[in-house]
Amino acid sequence: MSFDIFNLSLELSKALEKNNYKTPTPVQKEVIPLVKTKQDIMVQAKTGSGKTASFVIPILETLKENKDNKKAKIKVLVLAPTRELTLQIAESFSTLSRFFPKVLSIVSVIGGEKIGEQLLKIQKGCDIVVATPGRLLDIIGKKQIDLSTIEYFVLDEADKMLDLGFVQELDEILKIIPKNRQNLLFSATYSQKVIDIASKITSNAVKVEIKDSTTHVEEITQRAIFVKKEDRSALLRHLIKENKFKSVLVFMANKRATDNIANKFIKKGYEAESFHGDLTQEERNLTLNDFKDKKIDILFSTDIASRGLHIDDIDCVVNFDLPRGTEDYIHRIGRTARAGKSGTAISFLDNENLSHFKLIEKRYNLDIKKEQIEGFDFTLLKNTKQKGTAPVKGKRKSKKDKLREQGLL
Ligand code: ADP
Ligand code: MG
Repeated sequence: MSFDIFNLSLELSKALEKNNYKTPTPVQKEVIPLVKTKQDIMVQAKTGSGKTASFVIPILETLKENKDNKKAKIKVLVLAPTRELTLQIAESFSTLSRFFPKVLSIVSVIGGEKIGEQLLKIQKGCDIVVATPGRLLDIIGKKQIDLSTIEYFVLDEADKMLDLGFVQELDEILKIIPKNRQNLLFSATYSQKVIDIASKITSNAVKVEIKDSTTHVEEITQRAIFVKKEDRSALLRHLIKENKFKSVLVFMANKRATDNIANKFIKKGYEAESFHGDLTQEERNLTLNDFKDKKIDILFSTDIASRGLHIDDIDCVVNFDLPRGTEDYIHRIGRTARAGKSGTAISFLDNENLSHFKLIEKRYNLDIKKEQIEGFDFTLLKNTKQKGTAPVKGKRKSKKDKLREQGLL
């Protein structure tokens, strides 16, 4: 099945072809025709399922109709939680509209870059604004943007937006934009919080849920390896060599650790870099582009890179440190095996984090073999029992134990 079923314009079809988009993903199959019906839509589909193009394609198709030469008015407002995502969405709008007879003006409104340039572009007139909530409110505060002509309001990565605490910003923005608009909401997960926020935006959205079976997590080979903390670097080098991994994304617990280890790897002759929130926006863009262009082979990152970023062809994602939240595990490993390709995710385990890893496995119904690698001695302590036995309990009494003591269970 190809994109032909949507009867897209020649210009858009050509751009899709050039972008190597041959068949629509399941979410695109459902959402593209729905957007055209002008209804509000709320979409839940896993990371990597192609949500961006599912709104970019139908929106562009309607914008193409506009050929007049008047100063452009903002018709589309997209909100995204992070600067990187904002830039990626803007890029998607511009690559897919590149053959349009009238070039669309697309502005990214993001923090960390000079506000003046963004203001200038807005004043010149633009069709599409892709923004993070904070910087958009700055610009609204300066009375430098007219949002009264908005036809489409897109909220991307709604769950992440809530995680980052953007509820208040969102409320303020909602007060300003016209009531009569089409709302398109996207989220990788549905929680009560996401549903609550959706209810502030729209009351009659058509719900689209793309079930987990259509996601790509199955295409990821998940491994878990016991290793002493101090041996992790050496094991990582061993695994990269043995599996001939070319592009590796390594998640670490904190910023300093990413810097330290990246420096160590650079000294050993690897093309490595660190990626975290303390870098300037310019540094982040540069690093990300170098990683995408394969100028960097190993990227050591904090969780800043775990959601929504699409970097293709990552061979392997490594949980050097396990993620704190169980949900972050899926987001992290979702960075590999994108768009139908295969990939590997490796988690480093030890006596301390094993019970946490088991929580992750339980939450996602995973049953990952625990390996040990020759040459990397590791002693598993007895009280951290292996699979098939009762779950490990810490020193503190569980909620259940307490209830039992009180005779309530
Ligand atoms: P999501 O927002 O659901 O996490 P994205 O929209 O970021 O997913 O898309 C994930 C990756 O898949 C991107 O690299 C994107 O370019 C690619 N992609 C999306 N749709 C298609 C398609 N129809 N064919 C091939 N690749 C696609
Ligand atoms: Mg996305």
